Amino acid sequence: MDLFDKCHAYTRAKEVQALGFYPYFIPLEHTEGTEVVADGKRLIMIGSNNYLGLTTHPKVRSAAIEAVQQYGTSCTGSRFLNGTLELHRELERKLAAFIGKEATLVFSTGFQTNLGTIAALVSRADIVITDKEDHASIIDGCRLAFGQMKRFRHNDMTSLERSLQGCDAKAGKLVVVDGVFSMGGDIAPLAEIIPLCKKHNARLMVDDAHSVGVLGGGRGTPDHFGLTDNVDLIMGTFSKSFASLGGFIAGDEAVLHYIQHTARSFIFSASMAPPSVAAALAALEVMQEEPERIERLQAIAKKMRRGFQALGYDTGASETPIIPIVIGEDMAMLQMWKALFDAGIYANAILPPAVPPGKALLRTSFMATHTDEQLDQVLATFEKVGRKIGVI
Ligand code: PMP
Repeated sequence: MDLFDKCHAYTRAKEVQALGFYPYFIPLEHTEGTEVVADGKRLIMIGSNNYLGLTTHPKVRSAAIEAVQQYGTSCTGSRFLNGTLELHRELERKLAAFIGKEATLVFSTGFQTNLGTIAALVSRADIVITDKEDHASIIDGCRLAFGQMKRFRHNDMTSLERSLQGCDAKAGKLVVVDGVFSMGGDIAPLAEIIPLCKKHNARLMVDDAHSVGVLGGGRGTPDHFGLTDNVDLIMGTFSKSFASLGGFIAGDEAVLHYIQHTARSFIFSASMAPPSVAAALAALEVMQEEPERIERLQAIAKKMRRGFQALGYDTGASETPIIPIVIGEDMAMLQMWKALFDAGIYANAILPPAVPPGKALLRTSFMATHTDEQLDQVLATFEKVGRKIGVI
C-alpha cells in the first residue's frame, strides 16, 4: 500500500468542480469589506466574520502600517524566547481590563489558543467535556490532551449533566463550549451550564471567537449574561471582529502563568506579527469609542433573520449575526449557492461533516457596515433565487 493512494483516490472535490458548483478557495481580487470582486465580478459579501467592518477602518489600517514601520514585518520567534514586544504586553493588559479578567495571554491564532490551552490544562488524570457542535480547534485540543474526552448533545443540559455524573469525582474536569456556535449562530445557555459545572466541581471555558465584538457590549457571551466572574476561562480570536490575526485566553493570573509556561502552541510557534498586534489594539479602541457599530450589527441581524424567515427560510436557532439558511440536501444547497453567486451574492456553502447529514446550509453572516440597500438586495435575491430553485 502506498501512503499516497488515498490522495489519488480522493475525487469528491473534483466531482463537484466538474458540475460547476465548487464553492471553496475562491480567490478574491479585491475586497473592501461588504463588497468583493471575484472572477471580475462584484459581489455583496455575506460570508465574512468581519462583524464590525473594521478591516478597512482608517485607524486600524494606519495602526498596522505604523507598526510595520516601527517594528518590521515579523517577530521571527516565539513569545518565550525572543518574540515578545512591549506591544504584545500592552494588548494583553488592555484586553484583560476590557473582558473583565485578571490577565490575558495572546497566541498567534485562535486555533492555536484552543490547542495550547486545552492540551496544557487537561492532564492524564483529567476529563474534558465538550458540546458536540464545538469548533474543530477545541476538538483537536482535546485530542492533543492526555486526559479523557467526553461529548454532550448540543446545548442539551440533561446530556451535559449525564456526562458530568459519569466522571470520576476525583478527576479534574473542564467543560468547553462555544459562546456563539460558528455554524448555527445560537448561544450557549451559560446561566444553566454554570450551576452544573459548580455542582460537579468542573471548570468552565467559553470559546468566544464569534461573540467578542458582538455580544455584551463587545465583551462576549459571559458579559451578555452578566456572568463573567463565573466563567473560568474566556477564549477569543482577533481574526473576526478584531480585524486582525491571533487569539487570546483570559482568566486568573495563576492559571495563565501556568499556560504561558506549558502550552506548546504558545512556546514553540512565532508570536503575533507587529501589524496584527497593532491592528487588534486599534480595533479594541474603536470598539469602545464607537459602540454604535455593535448596535447597528444587532439591528441588522434582527432585520435579516426576520427577512429570511418571512420568505420561508429555516434559520435554525440563530440569535446573532450568524444566520444559517438550512437547505437540507447537499446538491440543492450547492445549486442555491451557485445561483446566488451568479446573482451577485457571496455566501458560504456548508456541507457535512461540518453539519449533520441532510442539514447542508448556506452560512450567512453580517457586518455593521452593510448598507440597507445591500441588505434589501440580499433579501430580494434570496427570494428570486429560492423560488426559481424551489427551496421556498
Ligand atoms: N473558535 C471558533 C469558534 C472559530 O470559529 C474559529 C475560527 N473559525 C476559531 C476558534 C479559530 O480561530 P482563528 O481563525 O483565529 O484560528
